[in-house]
Amino acid sequence: MNPRETKINRWIEQNRNREDVLMEWVKRMPKGGDLHQHFDGSLLTENLISSAVEQGLWVCMDDFSVSRQPQVEKQWKHLPELFQSADWENIHECLLRAWSIKDFDATRNAADEHFFGIFPKFFDVIPGYTEAGLLETKNRCLEEKVTYLETHFENFPAQIENQFLAEISKNWSILAAWGDDLTHEFEAAFQQLQTTNNRSFVENTCNRIQEVHQRLNIDDDRFTLRYLMYVLRLLPEHLVFEQMYLAFLSCEISELLVGINLVGAENNPITQSDLKLHLQMVSFFKKKFPKVPVALHAGELTQELTERFLHPHTISQSVKAGAQRIGHGVAIEWEWNEEETLKIMSEQRIPLEINLGSNEFILGIKPEEHPWRRYLKAGVPLVFGSDDLGILRSDRNREVTRFFSQYGGSYSEYKDMALNGILYSFLKDKDRKNQILNQLKADFDTFEKTFEDECTR
Ligand SMILES: [Zn+2]
Repeated sequence: MNPRETKINRWIEQNRNREDVLMEWVKRMPKGGDLHQHFDGSLLTENLISSAVEQGLWVCMDDFSVSRQPQVEKQWKHLPELFQSADWENIHECLLRAWSIKDFDATRNAADEHFFGIFPKFFDVIPGYTEAGLLETKNRCLEEKVTYLETHFENFPAQIENQFLAEISKNWSILAAWGDDLTHEFEAAFQQLQTTNNRSFVENTCNRIQEVHQRLNIDDDRFTLRYLMYVLRLLPEHLVFEQMYLAFLSCEISELLVGINLVGAENNPITQSDLKLHLQMVSFFKKKFPKVPVALHAGELTQELTERFLHPHTISQSVKAGAQRIGHGVAIEWEWNEEETLKIMSEQRIPLEINLGSNEFILGIKPEEHPWRRYLKAGVPLVFGSDDLGILRSDRNREVTRFFSQYGGSYSEYKDMALNGILYSFLKDKDRKNQILNQLKADFDTFEKTFEDECTR
């Protein structure tokens, strides 16, 4: 630790209770890499609402979900008409509350249900807002001094029905839960999917993302964005397998698509019942596509949920299945083999992506309950994640300020996370990675020097 860092650590120690002072300072601080962020959940809700109006979508007045097509059985209204009406201010407010955690009332709804129920409501806005959303994402990163972002961006459509796969996968979930080795069946399914059609479909997707990425000048000398393909683990078994295949293939082909993740609430009964199956699939595909990295959501559970579920030790299992980064990991202390899991994560340099604000809202985890220090003490690298800042109505400056004020974190600990966000990124271009890392180190040097100048003035 350099002497300047020591001084800043001491300054934070003295100013922990002054959130406004810390916040002003944090705004100028380099943030490095953000390795856990969801594209759709991070977009500003106000922007999504404006775009829904511009796209001429329809809104269901019962639950404020939008659609391209009004459905007869519910009460649907045309957004552009509502926008012109005297009632718009009120409707806008209802949309904000339905699509984010604004004014959330915990006595009336469960936080996790409200949160995970939001995504389908604005799902139809995203295709028409993707390009503007990418620019919004980049601008927010620049404003908040994030130089590298990996975003959970896209998945492959789930409706490519394959009769053979549907048939062969019928008992997979049960067999995997009993510990059966399904390699043989997976191999047969894999051969079925190795078609020129699938390959060109994947190539087209990669090309489309590449074209938009370049045309919008997303990458420049101050910012780099890479994409994670995600698999929706709530789908039927054969569709998860198919989506996973397409996702792995795309990450093998494309420079910009750098890794895989599985999404879907961990306390969903399907996530739970199919957990062993999904992890066996991950291990299988990792052998087929050894160069494609995998990060997994695991341990995003409370103590109650961990103890109630059939397969509670999700972090330990995800690590054993080959996850190269773990997202959330809150449940570590309630898992059966905490010590062994932490040891593997430390030895194999498998970082934990912490998502503090998100854990506070969805899981109700208080700052003093969060296990980030357990990981740190065990030698596990930490990286920063912002998860879904749009829905959470937060920003990185606030998240980092609270890391100091509420979580008792030090400047050195944050700086390590920021640097780890580059070191443990899945960025393929090694030269670019080094360039970003060196730039970040230089930014921190300047930042620390400025701090010293201001303090000694
Ligand atoms: Zn996430």
